[in-house]
Amino acid sequence: MRTPFIAGNWKMYKTPSEAETFAEALKKQKLPEDVRIAIIPPYVDLVPLKEKLKGTSVEVGSQNVFYEDEGAYTGEISLPMLKEIGADCVIIGHSERRQYFNETDGSCCRKLRKVLRESSLTPILCVGEKLSDREAGEQLMVVSKELRADFSGLTEDEAARVVIAYEPIWAIGTGKTATPDQAEDMCRSIRGIIRDLYSDETAESIIIQYGGSVKPENVKELMEKPDIDGALVGGASLIPEKFAAILDFKSEA
Ligand code: PEP
Repeated sequence: MRTPFIAGNWKMYKTPSEAETFAEALKKQKLPEDVRIAIIPPYVDLVPLKEKLKGTSVEVGSQNVFYEDEGAYTGEISLPMLKEIGADCVIIGHSERRQYFNETDGSCCRKLRKVLRESSLTPILCVGEKLSDREAGEQLMVVSKELRADFSGLTEDEAARVVIAYEPIWAIGTGKTATPDQAEDMCRSIRGIIRDLYSDETAESIIIQYGGSVKPENVKELMEKPDIDGALVGGASLIPEKFAAILDFKSEA
């Protein structure tokens, strides 16, 4: 039985005081007990958010991590830093980092190994195709190539701890959601690739999220699909009531 996992990626939104206001508002909402929840804010919000959410089940994660412990790497954040502040999870390879900050499958792979071998943080690995890939019918080839490169060298125990977020790039921040069938097709194929690389057991236990314009209006239909175990939510995670409505996807209302 896979526990649903819904994470909010705040991208470069919210100052520390805005993050605290969000946490206060979220705490007033009724949060489901059987859903794993995380908020992934900008770095400066991590400590105040962690503090404000103490005593709740809401986890806090980082939007990136570097693969060296320390050094002359201006602008980067390290795993020891994230461990010391008690971060629970970390996004690796978000398409915005791949597009604007030269993130490659090579660096994603190094970051994944680092996180899995030296911490208990959950890595959320993002993969997904561009619109031109989908129009050319090459979406599965692109995602398969990314996954195989990013997972390269991981043992089965390590691989089982990765959360995979399938995020078609054309659906991120555009208001265009993949249809539930398109999302399910790819998530099922991703599970198949994990089966191919490892085993049935790991394929059946690994958590696969869908991301791309998820909102209260479409989350239920997406989450009803058998291979979609959660969501990585951008824009709609910035408003506490909207995020809570997404977390409440099981309710009949
Ligand atoms: C994201 O940032 O990972 C994302 C899916 O954004 P949005 O929900 O805004 O499309």
